[in-house]
Amino acid sequence: MAKQLGFYFDASACMGCKTCQVACKDKNDLPVGVNFRRVWQYGNGSWVPSGKLWTPNNVFVYSVSVACNHCEKPSCAEVCPTGALAKRADGLVLVNADQCVGCRYCEWACPYGAPQFNEAKGVMTKCNGCEDLLAQGQNPACVDACPMRALEFGDIAELRAKHGNVNAIEPLPVATLTFPALVIKPHRHAQASGKGMGRIIDLVEEA
Ligand code: SF4
Ligand code: SF4
Repeated sequence: MAKQLGFYFDASACMGCKTCQVACKDKNDLPVGVNFRRVWQYGNGSWVPSGKLWTPNNVFVYSVSVACNHCEKPSCAEVCPTGALAKRADGLVLVNADQCVGCRYCEWACPYGAPQFNEAKGVMTKCNGCEDLLAQGQNPACVDACPMRALEFGDIAELRAKHGNVNAIEPLPVATLTFPALVIKPHRHAQASGKGMGRIIDLVEEA
């Protein structure tokens, strides 16, 4: 099997602090509204009065941190009309800005919302795995920033051997769309992709 780099995310450890999102934003000097890594709170339920108390009714919430998953079947690259999006030998899916014509097809095709359009430059941008840091033997910025050590990056076969094969929980899509290079340790309340009873509850902040 060809080399494939990818992320591990421990949803059972993530506390939703968004330090990873901010570290990515800082590393890549991203404008307002552009986030290569995003952290979503997914939950549901209600509190109901019971005498003088309020009691939980199916209340749950957990956080999911997601960037580009450098998918093994990248739908972004499949729809790109110029070949600007392509998979490198190490599995990273990268954008060649010189070839990008700003049509935004990849943005529509990616089920993870990973491609982020740079209005000022008129080209698509996204997570490149911090390829400059990788070349120096370092981790992507998000990985080292996480105070809970909820993120790892490396050879996906090694990450799977270490952490298992779960690669989809709500609110992420089912993995059979693009086969993400992603391993997840689910939160105890995690819902199966496509069968979730919750919703993303911080979309306004996300915007
Ligand atoms: S997460 Fe989206 S942008 Fe990244 S490789 Fe997969 S399909 Fe492409
Ligand atoms: S920095 Fe770590 S704990 Fe905080 S949101 Fe990101 S993954 Fe979760």
